[in-house]
Amino acid sequence: MNLTFTEEQLAVKEAAKEFAETELLPGVIERDEKEIFPAEQVRKMGEMGFMGMMVSPEYGGGGMDTISYVLAMTEICKVDASCGVVMSVNNSLVCWGLEKYGSEEQRQKYLAPLAKGEVIGAFCLSEPEAGSDATSQRTTAEDKGDYYLINGTKNWITNGNSAGTYIVYAQTDKEKRHHGINAFIVTRDMPGFVIGKKEKKLGIRGSDTHSLMFTDVKVPKENRIGEDGFGFKLAMGVLNGGRIGIAAQALGIATGAFERSLKYSKERKAFGVEISKHQAIAFKLADMATNIEASRLLILNAARLKDAKKDYTKASAMAKLFASQTAMDVTIEAIQIHGGYGYVKEYHVERMMRDAKITQIYEGTSEIQKIVISRDLLK
Ligand SMILES: Cc1cc2nc3c(=O)[nH]c(=O)nc-3n(C[C@H](O)[C@H](O)[C@H](O)COP(=O)(O)OP(=O)(O)OC[C@H]3O[C@@H](n4cnc5c(N)ncnc54)[C@H](O)[C@@H]3O)c2cc1C
Repeated sequence: MNLTFTEEQLAVKEAAKEFAETELLPGVIERDEKEIFPAEQVRKMGEMGFMGMMVSPEYGGGGMDTISYVLAMTEICKVDASCGVVMSVNNSLVCWGLEKYGSEEQRQKYLAPLAKGEVIGAFCLSEPEAGSDATSQRTTAEDKGDYYLINGTKNWITNGNSAGTYIVYAQTDKEKRHHGINAFIVTRDMPGFVIGKKEKKLGIRGSDTHSLMFTDVKVPKENRIGEDGFGFKLAMGVLNGGRIGIAAQALGIATGAFERSLKYSKERKAFGVEISKHQAIAFKLADMATNIEASRLLILNAARLKDAKKDYTKASAMAKLFASQTAMDVTIEAIQIHGGYGYVKEYHVERMMRDAKITQIYEGTSEIQKIVISRDLLK
């Protein structure tokens, strides 16, 4: 594995770092506390090219590789993981799938505004009764000839109220089970589409997570992505890549908490010396840094395989599993290193711990990642 970054990759990382420190850091505590969606910050992320990084320039994207995307995601999430998830869903779960599997007309009409960040995308797979088991879709899409009629409810949808374009999964033919699932491009203005309640969350509180309701929503046939019955394959395909983004989100959270802890441990004194001089604290720092480095390498490996167009299913699951556990472990230790100050908002690390938890849940829980990894090992 080549561990040297290109000049372009380093420039992207630098731009994301500077953006995060100047545009995201001010107000991150308030946005978390008051659950404010970072609309202005996301608009600027679009202008900077962070919303469609891997989309080809032909459709308004940055034409960058997955490594650049990982570097940018990590820098953004070091400061604000809520902005990170908006970026991750748009890039990995919406734009990537649309470019790879959408028709030319769909790319022209829907992908370009998403890639430029003019419109935000949402990925709508989960339902009240279908989370880890995404095959048991209850939302239906009845084939009516030149259109489909969508009925049902989606749960936990990131960007639920801020999106303009929604990729909605629904069951067309129950008999065919997951081979009967389709994915549709639904726009916010379609009659019968209602945005439901906003969830009050433990972490990533700046992101807006909503339930969505569909009652006889008429979706033109040309809005179906891929062949009839391709939806489940599309969902699994985009989630494979999405996991690299969430792993990078976890890495960013862990790195942000670690850097704050390292600095604090060299400033705070107890018993006449800086706390970093107490071996118990120094060893915590050693463990944190080691796990962060291991996460980084697993993520870069998955990104490298994806860029090389090799199979990255196991690699992305391993990266997400390990990086999300690292984010939890590191942020808990970060609070411990900060002592009482770690328990209050001004020092950021308590927010980082709350934000870290979601990385073990969405885009496949840690248990689901173990299923993916073990299936690959045993095939
Ligand atoms: C903040 C947030 C944002 C989200 N954003 C989106 C989004 O944008 N789009 C979207 O479609 N979804 C989204 N989700 C949904 C998320 O992907 C699901 O919550 C997740 O997949 C888990 O599904 P579930 O909540 O139904 O849990 P369940 O599937 O009910 O799982 C409950 C527990 O059982 C375990 N479990 C389940 N099956 C197995 C098994 N076979 N073996 C071992 N253990 C198992 C799980 O690991 C978990 O610990 C989001 C969720 C949250 C909380």
